[in-house]
Amino acid sequence: MATITHERWKCIGCGACASICPAHWSMSSGKAKLKGAKYEKTDNGEFGTKTVEEAGCCKKAAANCPVKCIHIK
Ligand code: SF4
Repeated sequence: MATITHERWKCIGCGACASICPAHWSMSSGKAKLKGAKYEKTDNGEFGTKTVEEAGCCKKAAANCPVKCIHIK
C-alpha cells in the first residue's frame, strides 16, 4: 500500500504528472488533480491524499514534478 499526497497549493500546473501518469492525474482549473483523492483546504494550503495498492507511475510523476509537490509513502 502507498499513500500519495498532493500539495496542490504548490502546484504550478505544468501538466507533467498528467502526461506521465494519466491513470492517476488530470488537470483541472489550471492545476493538477490526483484522481479519486480527497482534497482539503487547510490553513497551510490545499492538500489531496489517497491510498493505493501500488504507487506505479505516480513515482515517475513525483520524480518529474518541478516543484516536488507530489509525495509517496
Ligand atoms: S507535475 Fe507537479 S507542478 Fe506539474 S502539474 Fe503535476 S503536481 Fe503540478
